[in-house]
Amino acid sequence: MPVIGLTGGIASGKSTVLKVFKRLGAFVIDADILARKAVAPGTPGWHAIKERWGKKVFHNNGRLNRAALASVIFKNPAERKALNAIVHPEVFRMEKELIAARQKRNKKAVIVVDAAVMLESGSQKWKDAVVVVSAAEKEQMARLIKNGFSKKEALIRIRAQMPLRQKLKYADYVVENNGSPAACRKNAAAIFRQILRAQRRAGPVSANRAY
Ligand code: ADP
Repeated sequence: MPVIGLTGGIASGKSTVLKVFKRLGAFVIDADILARKAVAPGTPGWHAIKERWGKKVFHNNGRLNRAALASVIFKNPAERKALNAIVHPEVFRMEKELIAARQKRNKKAVIVVDAAVMLESGSQKWKDAVVVVSAAEKEQMARLIKNGFSKKEALIRIRAQMPLRQKLKYADYVVENNGSPAACRKNAAAIFRQILRAQRRAGPVSANRAY
């Protein structure tokens, strides 16, 4: 059962693509949910964050204030690295556990791990193929601004990520999302069918492993 990693820049359209994959039968693992679990109140991750950044990144009820933490780490790569060192190992552990459990139960379904920072974190290493959602920076900007970000905030978030051209070097499959949402869904469906065909041939699901 192939394990597909889905990634792409912020507002590239990953959620849109993921919905299509799900509708076509994929079993989905959301790395963002795992990242939230890794810092839930009382966990070792939660304690480690409290120790490093203190009360300013927490709400009064003890939950992590993600917006406050984001504003600290988006501006500073060293801080981002420190947070990743706390969160990523736990996310990887949970992800591998879910993959193994799913593979035990169902040998045929395609597992898709949705992970915005898959390539930055190196977690493509245990994927059979990488799907990158490709959107031009100006499209990402327009979508973020439409969703309430200032131009400056949008740019900081886009530039904090690995550039698209670098992400594309890892891609076995690319879903283009520079047109309408409907066109994106169509591209996504075509790519998923291609993955299923590769799976049926029982050959490697990946077409281009650059790593
Ligand atoms: P991601 O999960 O990569 O952050 P989303 O799929 O959530 O991206 O899309 C980000 C935002 O952009 C959402 O508000 C979505 O509705 C919008 N969006 C996505 N694709 C398109 C598109 N092709 N045209 C216009 N808006 C889009």
